[in-house]
Amino acid sequence: MTSLTVASREQRPALLRLGTLLAAMLFAFTLVLAGSVSAEAAPKAPKDPKNIGVLVNKNRPLKPKTYVPRDLTKIGSAKIRKEPARHMRSMMSAAKKAKKPVTIVSSYRSYKSQKTLFSQYSRWYGAKYASTVAARPGYSEHQTGLTADLGTPGGGCALGKCFGNTKASKWVASNSWKYGYIIRYPKGYTKVTGYAYEPWHVRYVGKKISSKMHHKKIRTLEQYYGLKR
Ligand SMILES: [Zn+2]
Repeated sequence: MTSLTVASREQRPALLRLGTLLAAMLFAFTLVLAGSVSAEAAPKAPKDPKNIGVLVNKNRPLKPKTYVPRDLTKIGSAKIRKEPARHMRSMMSAAKKAKKPVTIVSSYRSYKSQKTLFSQYSRWYGAKYASTVAARPGYSEHQTGLTADLGTPGGGCALGKCFGNTKASKWVASNSWKYGYIIRYPKGYTKVTGYAYEPWHVRYVGKKISSKMHHKKIRTLEQYYGLKR
């Protein structure tokens, strides 16, 4: 009896140590699990320009820089890839039905036309300022064929900040995600996107990404991919 009591008393600290160890292991396991969950929340940004989720910005040019999409199609005189075109048509007819019609002001631009545009701006304003209002050739999202600049049928406020105050722009801002589009350069995110607020510039990313961004309130594609820029 006596020896048993002594033995169990001696075992108590050992059991305590085992308990602490188990708790520590459980804690570590939880940390690993949380880490893998947050890694899952930020997928890797695709580099292939054919991928509808491709990330193109001032630090990430198209690869190759002279990339030309193979499935460009037309909406009026605007060129855009097939899949975004299909969803753009649905979005435009829904906007029209809601009495907030939108038009396409600019869409696909080739490497060459971007080069012409950029050197024109550089001549007018100098290269430094030009890079704040236009992308360098090979760095423009318009070259992916997944992007469009929207306007209103009257043509007022085309590519101007005042477009953001139109009913059409507000409709686009709250509904575009249903069609796989995002406002690529939202207000207050210049440090993340590298661009000033452009309420007219929409980018097709596909419904899977646009819904995820909408529901999780992720405002930029950079943040969706877990990048600061
Ligand atoms: Zn644009």
